[in-house]
Amino acid sequence: MNENLIDLVGLLRSEVETLMGELGQPAYRGRQLFHWVQARRAQDVDAMTSLPRGLRAVLAECVRVSRPEIARVQRSLDGTRKYLFRLDDGEKIESVLIPDDGRLTACISTQAGCPLACRFCLTGLMGLRRNLGAAEIVGQILVLQDRLEQGERISNIVLMGMGEPLLNLPQVERAIRILSDEQGANFSPRRITLSTAGHVPGSQKLAASDLGVNLAVSLSATTDAVRDEIMPINRRWPIADLLAACRAYPLPNRRRLTFEYVMLNGVNDSPGDAKRLVGLLHGIQCKINLIPFNTAPDLPDRPSPRERVEAFQRILQDAGLTATIRESRGWDISAACGMLRVQKENA
Ligand code: SF4
Repeated sequence: MNENLIDLVGLLRSEVETLMGELGQPAYRGRQLFHWVQARRAQDVDAMTSLPRGLRAVLAECVRVSRPEIARVQRSLDGTRKYLFRLDDGEKIESVLIPDDGRLTACISTQAGCPLACRFCLTGLMGLRRNLGAAEIVGQILVLQDRLEQGERISNIVLMGMGEPLLNLPQVERAIRILSDEQGANFSPRRITLSTAGHVPGSQKLAASDLGVNLAVSLSATTDAVRDEIMPINRRWPIADLLAACRAYPLPNRRRLTFEYVMLNGVNDSPGDAKRLVGLLHGIQCKINLIPFNTAPDLPDRPSPRERVEAFQRILQDAGLTATIRESRGWDISAACGMLRVQKENA
């Protein structure tokens, strides 16, 4: 790969137009080029046949269209597919495609590894290797789209793979703008959900932006004492601060925040926790996803028994909250929530 070439995948449409302007081309050529890369997913300039041959030759000298390289694909019995990608510098990340109930959700990564060390998550054990660039975030979607099967279409994108998106907000924001551009892949921001472990300043910035994506917050505890233990980010931004930021998050009509709650046996799953949660979320337009914990040898917790999860759910529902139990998908290929981890040394 030639490092001096400009990677078109990470450029906003306006930037592609500017680039074309610098080459003496009108803005509509920039739109065409953006469309070729993001909507038609052309992988090299030669394939962009609506551009004049001479222009293609000039572009071939100064731009490239990157793709993360697929290192491995695993398919679950339930149809979930997990992709391991190798990036230009050898770092590896994972993305997951989850077919469910007529939807096809792409769960993508925003960092290689993650610094936040949530106790229930294997990615946390990797530590942070580095932030992803916008091209690497968008590139995951491009490859997943390239590999779709007959009749499939990605309906939803969740930034819920490896990493804390709000720790990489400039590149995440850029990627969201590229993915939602109507001349590109044209994903409505309503179909994009950013999931945070509770980075308060980042969520305030997101609230102040015009991105319009959905916000999911991994809460997973009802007291600071417990949350400090299982999600160390809580020591910096405790529950009260986090929920204050959630209350301030602008929600258009009929849209709701999502609170994720990983159910850990004997840690955060008592009837008392459920009642406290009702109190904490009072007045917030939200739904709650109860997530059965996925065990792994390197993680200390055990999953809450099903009846305990259902009892917890009933208390929330009886209080008028919308609470669902997320069925674990892709468990057999370690693609379920909290199970993404790659070893740098192998594969
Ligand atoms: S749950 Fe999310 S924020 Fe927490 S360690 Fe895992 S990837 Fe990072």
